[in-house]
Amino acid sequence: MPTSKDLPLLLAFGAHPDDIEFGCGGIIARETRAGRPVHFVVCSRGEAGSHGTPKLRTAETKRAARLLGATVDFVTLDGDAHLEVKAAHAIKLAAIIRRLRPGTVLAPSLEQNQHPDHYRLGQLVRDASRLARYGGLKELKPRPAHAIGQLFFYAVTPEAEPAGLQPVLIDISPPEIVAAWTAAMEAHASQLKTRNYVELQVARARVHGLRAGVAYAQPLFPNDPLVFGSLASITAAARRF
Ligand SMILES: [Zn+2]
Repeated sequence: MPTSKDLPLLLAFGAHPDDIEFGCGGIIARETRAGRPVHFVVCSRGEAGSHGTPKLRTAETKRAARLLGATVDFVTLDGDAHLEVKAAHAIKLAAIIRRLRPGTVLAPSLEQNQHPDHYRLGQLVRDASRLARYGGLKELKPRPAHAIGQLFFYAVTPEAEPAGLQPVLIDISPPEIVAAWTAAMEAHASQLKTRNYVELQVARARVHGLRAGVAYAQPLFPNDPLVFGSLASITAAARRF
């Protein structure tokens, strides 16, 4: 049985306090229960939201991360609803990647029909993942360069799932995983006043799961082709031929 020391860090970036939980919280629960260390970096405190104060949303975020078994930090960029894609931000996020040295990085998808901070952060994280391994960047010295293993995008909402791209589906069916994920979403109580977003996300995971022949699944979209040692290690696909 591998211990957390054997499993490289999973680093997830969110533009707002609840993005990671809503977009891929079931996957996070699955990974932490497998003993993998997971860290969240949240790039605003939701200060432009219609409900909840930054203080309340910070507390909700910490509680949600704890329920998922993850740790969390906040980083200040331009603030909620003001995020711009600029080199200084990518370098700042690259410095975080160099410090934490993750194996896998998660970021919001690049689809534009969603909150503008989401796809802009997705671009910034993709750029940061590249800059983290460039040896000559003076702002990133003295920390050694770091090459992540994979970058995956998650979709905060159904509309944020990239059209025409086949996702990697992660099976999150065990009831304790769905329960931990649901509790983490419900921890963002200030955001659940207008719509039942928890039910929306669980229903989306149910549809992905049914498609894949399991109870619940969440999609991730790889930034690059995935590489396997042999076809034999790919044991399942969503289609039933
Ligand atoms: Zn958001």
